[in-house]
Amino acid sequence: MKDVIVIGAGMAGLICAQQLKQAGLDVTIVEKSLGLGGRMATRRLQGTWVDHGAQLIAAKSDNFARFIRKLQEKGIVQEWTRNVYQLSNSGLVPPTDDKRHPRYCCPMGMTAIAKHLINEIPVLTNTRIVSVSHTETKWQLKTTRQEILETSAIVSTIPAPQFLPIFEEVLATAPSFLQAVQSVKFAPSVTVMAGYSTTNDIPLEWQAVQCVDDPILNWISYDSSKHPDKADQPVFVFQSTAEFAKQSMEEPDLELAGKPLLNQVGRLLSKWLANPEWWQVHRWRYALVEESLGVSCLSTAIPLSLVCAGDWCAGKNIEAAYQSGIAAAESAIELLRN
Ligand SMILES: Cc1cc2nc3c(=O)[nH]c(=O)nc-3n(C[C@H](O)[C@H](O)[C@H](O)COP(=O)(O)OP(=O)(O)OC[C@H]3O[C@@H](n4cnc5c(N)ncnc54)[C@H](O)[C@@H]3O)c2cc1C
Repeated sequence: MKDVIVIGAGMAGLICAQQLKQAGLDVTIVEKSLGLGGRMATRRLQGTWVDHGAQLIAAKSDNFARFIRKLQEKGIVQEWTRNVYQLSNSGLVPPTDDKRHPRYCCPMGMTAIAKHLINEIPVLTNTRIVSVSHTETKWQLKTTRQEILETSAIVSTIPAPQFLPIFEEVLATAPSFLQAVQSVKFAPSVTVMAGYSTTNDIPLEWQAVQCVDDPILNWISYDSSKHPDKADQPVFVFQSTAEFAKQSMEEPDLELAGKPLLNQVGRLLSKWLANPEWWQVHRWRYALVEESLGVSCLSTAIPLSLVCAGDWCAGKNIEAAYQSGIAAAESAIELLRN
């Protein structure tokens, strides 16, 4: 039996497992996807890397800034831009001085952070937890392959709406815990990754654009500027607003779900952006936290040791996931001591 099973290999799960391992605990991560990183996601396309989840990292707190600096020293992270432009009805405007601060990227894609963090932590990928039960002393987690994994404590880092159907029954005796998780709201997003001919008029002045008040587009990244030496052609990433994604979530044709983003960027910025040489679409049902809990993590000892972590506890981004993962490790250690 394991001391702790961490569900999810995103930033929160990875950093939590790393801390638990350093504390001498027997920990395993269980991840439903084949790859690591969760919403820090990268696709290998046309011989290059394209981030289709989180686009950049900003570091506000001291401990997270130290963590990013260490990754920078190892070449996993580098400064990408200080200028996030704004696109509104009045056009494209650069940031004011108070909004200019470093945003970081990974030259080999966001998943490079996950590949670095996993180090020697045991991980079961392609393994989804489908249900949870318990005896008097241990949790039993059932996987899609009908295996039963046993552990003294669980740290779950899966998005709140995906946590509820798995844990609702075993937490019937902890209604306030459940209510807290139920109060969290996520928004969906549609992402388009698109590659263009080098003959186009490539922008030199911006790498990232936040769209203001547009009904369709929320974000534009000049993704190949993260690693210009490793991309043969310009690649851009477009992300939709939550409102647009809600309407197109059930569209069976992925290309149709993504096409309006291309049309819109062609209208708003440059016509050629509507006509890429190739493009792919990814839909995130649980992309960005709309309402978080405002606590670093959630824990209970009843029925057994359980900690919930993830961006949705502490905020909305990679830094919040990191802080939540650190707090979850402390909480799990405390629960196991008692
Ligand atoms: C399109 C998009 C753009 C974003 N842009 C930015 C940005 O620019 N900057 C920024 O800081 N943040 C951004 N974010 C948010 C950022 O990606 C997240 O805040 C952060 O990655 C969350 O990490 P996490 O570990 O909390 O959760 P996740 O990364 O979601 O990790 C949870 C993991 O649990 C796994 N899982 C789920 N259910 C199960 C199950 N039943 N069994 C096993 N495993 C399971 C999932 O596969 C996933 O790997 C963006 C997110 C999206 C989607």
